[in-house]
Amino acid sequence: MPDLKPLPPHLIGGNFLLTETDPSLVFTPEDLTSDQRLMAQTAEKFMEKDVLPNLEALEHQEEGLLPKIFRKAGELGLLSMGVPTEYGGLGLDKTSTIGVEEQVTRLGGFGVTCGAHRGIGTMPLHYFGTEAQKQKYLPKLASGEWMGAYALSETGSGSDALSLRTKAELTPDGKHYVLNGTKMWISNAGWADLFTIFAKVDGKVTAFLVEKTFPGVSTGKEEHKLGIKTSSTRRVILEDAKVPVENLLGEVGKGAYIAFNILNIGRYGLGAGAIGGAKESIKVATRYALERSQFGRPIASFGLIQHKLAEMATRTFAGESVIYRTAAMIDAVQETGEMMDSTTPPFPRSLDEFALECSIIKVACSEILDDAADETLQIHGGYGYTEEFPAARAVRDSRINRIFEGTNEINRLFIPGLLMRRAQRGRFPLVEAITKVTKELLDMSPSDDTAEGDDLAPVQSLLANAKKLVLFVSGVAYQKHGEKLGDEQEIVASLSDMIIDIYLAESALLRTLKTRNVRGSASAMVDLTLAFTNDAVGRWEQQARRALAAISQGDELKTQLGIVRRLLRWTPLNGVAIERRIAKRLCEVGSLSALVASK
Ligand SMILES: Cc1cc2nc3c(=O)[nH]c(=O)nc-3n(C[C@H](O)[C@H](O)[C@H](O)COP(=O)(O)OP(=O)(O)OC[C@H]3O[C@@H](n4cnc5c(N)ncnc54)[C@H](O)[C@@H]3O)c2cc1C
Repeated sequence: MPDLKPLPPHLIGGNFLLTETDPSLVFTPEDLTSDQRLMAQTAEKFMEKDVLPNLEALEHQEEGLLPKIFRKAGELGLLSMGVPTEYGGLGLDKTSTIGVEEQVTRLGGFGVTCGAHRGIGTMPLHYFGTEAQKQKYLPKLASGEWMGAYALSETGSGSDALSLRTKAELTPDGKHYVLNGTKMWISNAGWADLFTIFAKVDGKVTAFLVEKTFPGVSTGKEEHKLGIKTSSTRRVILEDAKVPVENLLGEVGKGAYIAFNILNIGRYGLGAGAIGGAKESIKVATRYALERSQFGRPIASFGLIQHKLAEMATRTFAGESVIYRTAAMIDAVQETGEMMDSTTPPFPRSLDEFALECSIIKVACSEILDDAADETLQIHGGYGYTEEFPAARAVRDSRINRIFEGTNEINRLFIPGLLMRRAQRGRFPLVEAITKVTKELLDMSPSDDTAEGDDLAPVQSLLANAKKLVLFVSGVAYQKHGEKLGDEQEIVASLSDMIIDIYLAESALLRTLKTRNVRGSASAMVDLTLAFTNDAVGRWEQQARRALAAISQGDELKTQLGIVRRLLRWTPLNGVAIERRIAKRLCEVGSLSALVASK
């Protein structure tokens, strides 16, 4: 077990499942200071002046245009926010940079270029590089003079990334590694100056910093992609590529730590960008729904269109709430400066602690964006299917987010798997929690324990019960399948979906409670939280029943289903009325941000 220092309960990864959090401890978008909002405003102006007017030319990859705009982003500090000041960066925390992630994804492909550069392109060096490596490369990456890329995938190894075949051999004089192999699907490859490349040394995965001008390094032609056409995706070809030994990143055989811990942060960044895209879709959809009339009235006045607008707003609100909550948690652990010393190379605990939350964010936010983009197209009707409106491009651009940074299937499998691995290492008291909850539930006599109180009190007690439910179902599943539970992917995915909804619903609730405490009222947020929870109950029930029915049968199953019913006791709210209120206000104010700002 790693020798880790104790953290406050709300800063322990995965602990949201076992404890309740005081609303005052969560960070929300409403907590941003004017200084923190400044970078987002800079990014917004940049997008409107330099990027969006060039949209067509960027989509057609006009020679030299993207690198020019990219450098401008660098001059404005938009590429260096997470890089420490001693290496030419702005040294900002995560909460200060979310707004930038949101802005750049207003054009999906440009968001991928910047995100891949700042995240997986720069962070391996930032977190795992030696002082000399950082001095040499970080300032160039921070300023945008150079572009970064991350090359893990190959033709035969995508999800199963560690089965990669690229080889690196030390030359007899010990001065270089010679790399041979082909990397596939590498974002930014067409423009990148520095690649973090993963190759095997004597069969062990190892990371290297590879300049594009090193002998033997070349790139393939641009892939013809469904979307994100503004971005570059190519193969990186290594033919006896000579890489100086000084460019070994970390240690031989420790590349997997680098690859996977960087992906944690990448998943968080992807989610933040996706929520930016979803917020943009909401604006576009609302505007169109108000402008377009059919049957003599704006389509925004129809219930089914209101339902779509409200659902987009509800889910995006929950997604935004988890992004800010998690960003501040990562920042707080980062501030402790604690390293995972039991690993070589050591790396900041903040990269590892919230791996579960980062996967949740990746899955949930990519799906929120996909649905928002799809419904925006639907609201545009036939026009949405043409290139005349931005909806078609948004659908194409959003789709990639469910595939890269670990497919959503792989991330769904990872979420319960990680909890179990941490439990086995004595780092997370999962087994104790399952045992306690199971005993309590089996001993409990049926009673009407629906919470009374204000409108959010039942949500709080339902959430507490949803946590018990996922622990209970996990216990039943583990009892049946033991160590082989991972092979029962459908059950694992059901657990995962329940956990995802819990984190989202709780984050939305805590944000609403905190805001209401501060402002005295937050009725729009209350509606959004109620709408999310009202729908989540059905999903929890469906997933729990599906998992239990795949595990148990007969009387045992009946008893277990009784527990599900008891835990999810919830008088359905009038979801239609709530959604109509949400949609009406959204149409009055035009954006999710304005909606949640209203009391
Ligand atoms: C536009 C684009 C940009 C990319 N950028 C980068 C980059 O910058 N750097 C980089 O290294 N890579 C990059 N990738 C690669 C990306 O990470 C991989 O495509 C992704 O990891 C999936 O791998 P794969 O395509 O080989 O699919 P596969 O792994 O073959 O998966 C195919 C399907 O099977 C499912 N599947 C696979 N294994 C399992 C399992 N055990 N259980 C259940 N289902 C499973 C997957 O979820 C998927 O649905 C990029 C890809 C694209 C398309």
